[in-house]
Amino acid sequence: MKPPETSTSVFDRVRFVLVETSHPGNIGAAARAMKTMGFSRLILVNPRFHDALEHEEALAFASGAQDILSRTKVVGSIEEALDGCNFAAALSARLREFSPPVWTPRTLAAHINMEPDVQAALVFGNERYGLPNGVVEKCNVLINIPANPEYSSLNLAQAVQVLSYECRLAVMEEAQAPATSIGFQGEAASFAQIEGMYAHLEEALTAIGFLKPDNPKKLMPRLKRLFSRTQLETEEVNILRGIAKKILQNRNS
Ligand code: SAH
Repeated sequence: MKPPETSTSVFDRVRFVLVETSHPGNIGAAARAMKTMGFSRLILVNPRFHDALEHEEALAFASGAQDILSRTKVVGSIEEALDGCNFAAALSARLREFSPPVWTPRTLAAHINMEPDVQAALVFGNERYGLPNGVVEKCNVLINIPANPEYSSLNLAQAVQVLSYECRLAVMEEAQAPATSIGFQGEAASFAQIEGMYAHLEEALTAIGFLKPDNPKKLMPRLKRLFSRTQLETEEVNILRGIAKKILQNRNS
C-alpha cells in the first residue's frame, strides 16, 4: 500500500494551538475565525474547562464552525500539540528579552506558503497571562501583530482571525519569499529531536562544569534562542548530539 501523501496545501500544513484558554467562547470564536479562512486544525493544550469543546458558549460562538470543534484535539502538553510539526510560531502581544526572532504575521504567512516542507503550529496564549516563556522558547519565531503600542493586546479569537487571514492571503497572492525565509537543505529536525539534543547538551555542559546547576544563569535559554534562529536539520542535531556524547565519554574515561 502507498503511504499516505502529505498534503502540500497551506490549509493542511497549519495548525492552530491554543494554550490554557480560559473562556470557551474564545475557543468557539477561534474555530469560526479559522473556518472562515479555510483552516480546520485546532488543538487545545490544557483548557481551563476540560469540557470546553461542548461548553454552550463555545458552541454558540462557533456558530457554523461546530464541525471544527468536533474534530479539535485536547492535549496535556505543548509537546503533544507540536507532534509532527517542524516549525512553531509563538503569538505574543509582548516582546521579551529571550525571544526567538520577531516576524510579522505577513512574513510568517509568506514563509509557510513558500516552503512546502513546513508543518507549522501557530501557538496562542491565555487571555490574561499570554504564553509562558517555556513555550515561547520552543518556538522558531515570535509573531507580533503590530497593533497600537498603547493597547496592543487583541482578543484571542481576533488574533487567530488576523493570522488565518494573512495565511489565506499569502496563498491567494502567491507572496514573494521574505528575506528572512530559510530554505531547507536536508530534512528539518522535529521538535522531539531538538528537545532530545538540548537535554544531551545540557548534560554534557554540566559534566564539564560549564553549566552550573545551582547557578545556570540563562545559558540554556540563550542556546535555545541561538539554535531556534537556524532551522535545525536532523543531521545537524545528530552532529550536536555526537559532540555531547563524546564530551560525556571523555569525562567518564
Ligand atoms: N495579556 C496577554 C495577552 C493575552 S491575549 C499578554 O500580555 O500576553 C491572548 C493571546 O492572543 C496572546 O497570548 C497572543 O497569543 C494573542 N495576541 C493578542 N494580541 C496580540 C498581538 N498584538 N500580537 C500577537 N499575538 C497577540
